[in-house]
Amino acid sequence: MNITVNDVSKIYGTNENKVVALDHAAMSIHGGDFISIMGPSGSGKSTLLHIISGLDTPTSGNVLYDGADIHNGSDKALSAFRRKKMGFIFQQFNLLPVLSARENIMMPLLLDRRQPDEDYLRELAEFLGIGTRLNHLPHELSGGQQQRVAIARALIAKPDIIFADEPTGNLDSKSGGEVMKMLCDIREKMNKTLVIITHDLQIAKRAVRQFTIVDGVLSEAV
Ligand code: ADP
Ligand code: MG
Repeated sequence: MNITVNDVSKIYGTNENKVVALDHAAMSIHGGDFISIMGPSGSGKSTLLHIISGLDTPTSGNVLYDGADIHNGSDKALSAFRRKKMGFIFQQFNLLPVLSARENIMMPLLLDRRQPDEDYLRELAEFLGIGTRLNHLPHELSGGQQQRVAIARALIAKPDIIFADEPTGNLDSKSGGEVMKMLCDIREKMNKTLVIITHDLQIAKRAVRQFTIVDGVLSEAV
């Protein structure tokens, strides 16, 4: 798996409302990479992640996934591609409140009419320490447990790459540390590519390749 971000800019608004959220960003991601992208609030981190993962389109430049432009083709094809190849973890967990942990985890498969893989669900849940929590609703779980459900949901379709946008931003330091440890373990043991966005230097330093972004300008620390 290879993702190439070529000279991507993103401009919101026009004239006096114009915001350059990304300024000629370039990077490449290879299978097995462990990447952090660190920058202050408003620096363009989420914008970059949304464009790399096809959730948003660049104003200029392009993103190639194994050589093919991910923004070419229909929205439907792109959504299906994303669900198959990419897993997402958000700061706010984004679990559906009326669904149990199990139903939340299985949701990406149901959306693609794929068979739920009970054995894999079990394996993931044990690995993440939520095996006894699967029938609970999100509000019956702690923040750390909710984020672990979200991690299982990100993994259930066996994506190539996991994108995590401030995954510990809503957690206390203990649960945040546990979640980070799990993400690192998942990357190593399941051989996933991991891109973590953070404004926490301690978290950023755990990654193998470290990028910073300031006012939309992306650079890799060497
Ligand atoms: P970060 O994730 O680093 O906090 P964002 O990527 O969310 O930063 O935002 C980068 C800049 O782009 C900010 O100035 C933000 O206000 C602006 N921005 C983000 N999304 C939009 C949008 N939909 N419309 C207008 N401006 C936006
Ligand atoms: Mg953000």
